[in-house]
Amino acid sequence: MRIAVVGTGYVGLVTGSCFADMGNIVTCVDVDQKKIRDLKKGIVPLFEPGLEEIIKRNRNRRLFFTTDLSKAVQSSDLIFIAVNTPAGKNGEVDINNVKAVALGIAKSINRHKIIINKSTVPIGMGDIVTQILIKRGPKDLSFDVVSNPEFLREGSAVADLLRPERVVIGATNRSAAQKVAEIYKPLRCPILITDLKSAEMIKYASNAFLATKISFINEIANLCDKVGADILQVTKGMSYDSRIGSQFFNSGLGFGGSCFPKDVAALVAIGKTSGYPFRILPEVLRINQFQRTLFVEKVRQIVGPLRGKTLAVWGLSFKPNTDDLREAPSLSILPALMARGAKLRAYDPVSMGKAKALLKKVKFCKDPYETVQGAEAVLVLTDWNEFKQVDFQKLRSILKQPILIDGRNMYDPREMAEKGFAYHGMGRGETSNF
Ligand code: NAD
Repeated sequence: MRIAVVGTGYVGLVTGSCFADMGNIVTCVDVDQKKIRDLKKGIVPLFEPGLEEIIKRNRNRRLFFTTDLSKAVQSSDLIFIAVNTPAGKNGEVDINNVKAVALGIAKSINRHKIIINKSTVPIGMGDIVTQILIKRGPKDLSFDVVSNPEFLREGSAVADLLRPERVVIGATNRSAAQKVAEIYKPLRCPILITDLKSAEMIKYASNAFLATKISFINEIANLCDKVGADILQVTKGMSYDSRIGSQFFNSGLGFGGSCFPKDVAALVAIGKTSGYPFRILPEVLRINQFQRTLFVEKVRQIVGPLRGKTLAVWGLSFKPNTDDLREAPSLSILPALMARGAKLRAYDPVSMGKAKALLKKVKFCKDPYETVQGAEAVLVLTDWNEFKQVDFQKLRSILKQPILIDGRNMYDPREMAEKGFAYHGMGRGETSNF
């Protein structure tokens, strides 16, 4: 099929590249001229495992990049919108990018097109896009609007896109939905065809549910700390129950990234404007923020007054295997520690380039060992695999004090005690007998 994908961020670039790899002819469009210039040269502007190879395999054969929306629209049958939909001032969704693309399509549409929205958008956006096309497009316009929300996760985006657990397609016209479903058929996954609004709601409800699961388990972890239970034993015991499951069940610093915080806030805002003010979701967001505050307080209690003390920080991205810092716990925890007078030495395997612009006054180091020079404690903020392989003896010999404060519950408290560390996790209680 001839496909245009508008927006070459985490979703658009991965989607476009994978669709090309599956044999379609894909043109990726973006307003960011530098990004497109780089992509044309084969420079991939974001880190996502496996993506660079796919782009290399398909670039200039089935995968093309342009800033010219009009040409891309005219030469394609299906147009995916995958632009960013950031949070507005009060948590509501800023839909201006999607509207701008819809207007661009309306101005250049030359024959029947299927316009598919992959961006996460408020329920009813399909109707807004339809209205823009009717009002601003040519008189004899023929088109279908489809919703195809994306569920990929950064850090495993390629694998998620190629092996989805489900594909959701919402449309008014079933044959347009079926045409979109054709693209996904080779992936052999369940495909739900439904109406536009239900498809849009499925995305928000899924993210809000997962965020709620994380905030719930964080509250249980906080109670574990009070009563001396180990949250890892608790979640293990709960996870055997298939009704509960084990995913998105890690206690620690809470959720971050460009989706969960924004999408939960958006659903709260949608609820308010639709006459249903949510009770549970504002609390989910408050608990998430509280986890960061709690961690800073934990550090202060363990290390003592922070003024003039040096701390080593491991991990800055909001989760492993991504360079994405959006809503990362590090962005609120590091400034809070510095405001209390701490000096910070930080390391992250891939996000330091981006972090340097956001976290001034932090000393960025070349590896985990360099961070601990003169440090009173190590703080783990992202559970990168690399941190599991550390030589703890070497670490102990460099650290001023062998204190490890693990915001991601990466390590076993008993093993850490054997290695001579004072170990503190999130909700690990008094677990040394396990
Ligand atoms: P992103 O910020 O990484 O990329 C968005 C891209 O769209 C940018 O390159 C930007 O320049 C481009 N853009 C903005 N306006 C444009 C316009 N008018 N014309 C052409 N290009 C334009 O965003 P993302 O993380 O890929 O997210 C895209 C959408 O998908 C959002 O709605 C997001 O909520 C949703 N989503 C994201 C993820 C994720 O893990 N990142 C997962 C599922 C869904």
